[in-house]
Amino acid sequence: MTRPEMLSLLDAHTAEWDIIVVGGGATGVGVAIDAASRGYDTLLLEGSDFGKGTSSRSTKLVHGGVRYLEQGNVSLVMEALRERGILRQNAPHLVSDLAFIVPRYDWWEAPFYGLGLKIYNILSGKYGFGPSKVLSREETLRRLPTIHPEGLRGGVVYYDGQFDDARLLINMVATAAEKGATLVNYCRVTALTKDRDGFVNGVVARDEESGREFMATSKVVVNATGPFTDALRRLAEPSVPAMISPSQGIHLVFHRSFLPGKSAIMVPRTSDGRVMFAIPWRGHTLVGTTDTAIPEATPEPFPREEEIDFILKTAGEYLAKAPSRGDVLSVFTGIRPLVRAANSSNTSALSRDHTIHIDESGLLNIAGGKWTTYRNMAEDCVNHAAILGKLPERECVTTRINIHGFHSQAQKFGHLSFYGSDAPAIQELMRREPALAQPLTAALPYVGAEVVWAVRYEMARTVEDVLCRRTRAVFLNAKAALEAALKVAALMARELERGPDWELAQLSAFQNVAARFSLKITGS
Ligand SMILES: Cc1cc2nc3c(=O)[nH]c(=O)nc-3n(C[C@H](O)[C@H](O)[C@H](O)COP(=O)(O)OP(=O)(O)OC[C@H]3O[C@@H](n4cnc5c(N)ncnc54)[C@H](O)[C@@H]3O)c2cc1C
Repeated sequence: MTRPEMLSLLDAHTAEWDIIVVGGGATGVGVAIDAASRGYDTLLLEGSDFGKGTSSRSTKLVHGGVRYLEQGNVSLVMEALRERGILRQNAPHLVSDLAFIVPRYDWWEAPFYGLGLKIYNILSGKYGFGPSKVLSREETLRRLPTIHPEGLRGGVVYYDGQFDDARLLINMVATAAEKGATLVNYCRVTALTKDRDGFVNGVVARDEESGREFMATSKVVVNATGPFTDALRRLAEPSVPAMISPSQGIHLVFHRSFLPGKSAIMVPRTSDGRVMFAIPWRGHTLVGTTDTAIPEATPEPFPREEEIDFILKTAGEYLAKAPSRGDVLSVFTGIRPLVRAANSSNTSALSRDHTIHIDESGLLNIAGGKWTTYRNMAEDCVNHAAILGKLPERECVTTRINIHGFHSQAQKFGHLSFYGSDAPAIQELMRREPALAQPLTAALPYVGAEVVWAVRYEMARTVEDVLCRRTRAVFLNAKAALEAALKVAALMARELERGPDWELAQLSAFQNVAARFSLKITGS
């Protein structure tokens, strides 16, 4: 899977595509897997890198959403619980079970959360991850040694899934390619073309590396641009009313010592009525998230001061040692592509169900939903696309498709476990060139071989691609990622046959990226 190969496939394809997907996040790549595996001729164009948008900035939970149960959205919870089970089955190298403990400080919390979480487990049916249980104070303290002990009565434990969002996405891109899709990153769709009747019949796109413009025609164009859905719709019909109500959420990442065990904390009701999680993730502690309505989606969203303060304050209420700004190793912000409701100004109340909407121009839009439900969303979308594009009817097969890297005992590869069946090839790179076994920085486990692998087989084009989405360095520790950047740039330049000017430009661009993940840049 290399970008030049993908570009040659694109150039050689002069016929009309069955489906062109715009947007390479979870939604778009999910649609590409579904469409290609049904045998439809599929092209996906991503304007930046795969997963550059929301899909690398989630809480990294494969979950049914306990909160939606409280809101009474049982159908969404059941759909998500089923998808959670399918995803663990098809990508065991990237999805794992995680125990979540709801700490109890009031007498009524044991019966209330105990019952609610029992229902949650019953709804998961054969896809259950483990029974929920009321815990004593001692057991809660044993599993969560850093929880605030004062007034603690105990906890309720339940099980959900955890994953690495960007790594799953990169493996999904490989899966789609293996099923016959053509997928290109750094190809931005700049215009939509129409036939004589005014129906969208293709795209104009720009290769962001070479600046070259090209056209591609298709029976159906799927808009999977997440928070940017309305911007793409307006390329076809400038006056369409907005469909998306963007809302951002931030996460703070701390040292592992803030949550040293194997269990996560779930706070079911923060002072603003939301849920918050503190999760052990990749040897660190991840805390989030917020839900802040924003006027407009931007490619580089930034955290607001009040969001940072809110997370620090809430974490401080539950952790014996309250984290401070100085403890924040990384901060990241994602934008939810929530679908608008007529009378709601509160984005946390907006539905997390997905929406499929066909514009008068024939552009097929898919938005909303969750990472967890991407497969089901894709199935629904391709069913609609097949009717719209008069494609031959073919059944969806994605419940049975293993995601690239599938491996049921990937833990044996240590920190390379997330590569699954690709891990031995990366180990082989290290054996052949021992310098590639050296860590890129002391604070993180990543090694040079992962950089080489990312360039050769995962379409990484920039230092940011490697340190944000092929590895998760900047999400874990922005300062350490910056230290690693020099080695990454040198290795990439060697692989891509680029000169010192390219290296310098990459380092300077990455400095700006890393600054956005540290607490220096914040908004109002
Ligand atoms: C803070 C937060 C936490 C979350 N946590 C969870 C969680 O724990 N579990 C869960 O299941 N879900 C979670 N979600 C939801 C989940 O992350 C999103 O539903 C999902 O990632 C949306 O994916 P997407 O593909 O629709 O959008 P994106 O990932 O944003 O993808 C859209 C892509 O379109 C591209 N694009 C835009 N315009 C163009 C163009 N003109 N040409 C080509 N490409 C273009 C963008 O570059 C982008 O890559 C969370 C969301 C947020 C914000």
